Amino acid sequence: MVKTGLYIFSNDLRLDDNPALRLAASEMDQLICFYADDNNPSSEVHQGRGGRSGRRNQFLHESLTALDNNLQHYGHRLVFRKQPLTDAVAELISLHNVTHIYGSINVGRHSNCQWDLLKKEHPTISFQQRHSHTIFNPEDLPFTVDSLPFTFSKFRRQVEDILVDFPTPKPKSLPPPPANLARENTVPNLCDITPGSYFTGGANIGWAHVNQYFNKGLASTYKTTRNGLDGMDYSTKFSPWLANGCVSVKSVIARLKLYERDFEQNESTYWIYFELLWREYFQWYAHRHKDRLFDFSGISLVKPQTSFYAERYQKWCHGNTPYPIINALMKQLKATGYMSNRGRQLIASCFVHELNLDWRYGAAYLEQQLIDYDEASNWGNWQYLAGVGADPKGHRKFDLRKQTEMYDPHGEFVKRWAGNQTDSELDSVDATDWPV
Ligand SMILES: Cc1cc2nc3c(=O)[nH]c(=O)nc-3n(C[C@H](O)[C@H](O)[C@H](O)COP(=O)(O)OP(=O)(O)OC[C@H]3O[C@@H](n4cnc5c(N)ncnc54)[C@H](O)[C@@H]3O)c2cc1C
Repeated sequence: MVKTGLYIFSNDLRLDDNPALRLAASEMDQLICFYADDNNPSSEVHQGRGGRSGRRNQFLHESLTALDNNLQHYGHRLVFRKQPLTDAVAELISLHNVTHIYGSINVGRHSNCQWDLLKKEHPTISFQQRHSHTIFNPEDLPFTVDSLPFTFSKFRRQVEDILVDFPTPKPKSLPPPPANLARENTVPNLCDITPGSYFTGGANIGWAHVNQYFNKGLASTYKTTRNGLDGMDYSTKFSPWLANGCVSVKSVIARLKLYERDFEQNESTYWIYFELLWREYFQWYAHRHKDRLFDFSGISLVKPQTSFYAERYQKWCHGNTPYPIINALMKQLKATGYMSNRGRQLIASCFVHELNLDWRYGAAYLEQQLIDYDEASNWGNWQYLAGVGADPKGHRKFDLRKQTEMYDPHGEFVKRWAGNQTDSELDSVDATDWPV
C-alpha cells in the first residue's frame, strides 16, 4: 500500500531544523505539504474582532510565500486552505488517501484542540509530532514538564549548561506529491501589502537578517543597547522570524556560538542566550500550565483587582492616554507591528497598574498586532507583569515618568511617534456614566 503523508506546517515555516518534516521525508512514498489558515485567536476576549492585524497577516503571508518558493526546489507547492484545520484535513484525507499525518508540537491552544479532534476523527491514521520551537526536548530537561521550576532564575540555573543539539539539516529530498495534487490551492497573492514595514517574512530574509546582525558585530554590545526603543540595531530583532518559525532557535544559537568562537565572546553574547532562555522558559511554562495561560488569575490563586473599562481600553489601543510615552509606543506598534521589550513592559504596566484594566484584554490586543506574536511569550509575559505569573515579586509596576527620563531623555521617541497628542483626561464619564 502506498504511504501518503500530510505535513501540516504551523509555526515552523521552514525546511531546515524541522525534525517532523525530516521524519516524514524518510518514511513516506508521497507527501503533501500543507498549511491551514483559520485565523483563530487563542482567547475568548477578542470580542469577535478577528485574530490578526494587517501587518501580522502580511508577515505571515510573506513567510508562507517564501516557504512555497523553497518547496518548489523540491518539486512541491505549499497547499493552502483558508478554513479550519479539521475540515481541510478531512477533505485532503479523502481526496488523496492520506495514511500518515506529521507536524511540529506547539503550545497553541487552538491548534492542539484541532490536533486532538483530528486524532479522534481519524483513528486509522498514524500521527507523528516533534518539537521544533524550543531549544530542548522534554527528555533533555533535568525535570519533568509538570515540575517546571516556578521562577525563571531557577529554570535558567538548571538548564543553561546543557549542551544544545546541532540543528538538523534540510531533508535532501522530499517524497513526490500525489499525482492529483496539482489541482489544490497554493498560497494566494497578497493584494493589500502595506509599505513601510520594518520586517519581511520568510526563511531566506530571516537568515539574511540574522547574518547581518552578527556580521555587523552588534552582538558584542547587545547587553548595553538592548533597552532601546526605536531602530533596528539596539536589539537582535530575531523575534518575528523565530515566532513564525522561519528561523529555528537552535540555528540561531548555533550562529551565536560561531560568532563567539570566531569573533568575540563576552557578557553581551551570553545575554542573547539568556534572553533566548526566557523564551524557552515561557514555552515550557505554556506546555505546563495549558489553559491557565489565559486565566484571569493566571497560575496564582488570586484574581487581580482590575476590570474592563471600554473608554480606557480604546485610549490605550489608539495611543490617546495622558502618558506621552505610552501613546508613542502604541502608535509605533500600530504602524510597524513591532515594539521593543522595554516598550512592551511599559505599556503592559500602564494597562494594569495605571488604567486598572484586565490584563487579558491587553494580551489579546498584542496578539492581534504583533508580527512576532508567540502564544507562550506573549501570554506568559503579560501574566508576569500583571502579577499572576512566574514572578516571585508579585507584580511589576514601572514609574512611567522615570522610565521616560531614562529611555527617552531628549523626547525624540515621543516626538517621532506623536506621543504628545494626548488626552489629559483618562475618563470622560464617571462610574454612573455622567460626564466628568
Ligand atoms: C507584555 C509583553 C509581551 C510580549 N509578547 C511577545 C510575543 O508575542 N512574542 C515574542 O517573541 N516576544 C514577546 N515578548 C518578549 C520580548 O519583548 C520580545 O521577544 C522582544 O522584544 C523581541 O525583540 P528582539 O528580537 O529584538 O529581542 P532581543 O532583546 O534581541 O532578544 C532576543 C530574543 O530573545 C527572546 N526574548 C527576549 N526577551 C524575551 C522575553 N521577555 N520573553 C520571551 N522571549 C524573549 C526573543 O525570542 C528575542 O527575539 C513580550 C514581552 C512583553 C513584556
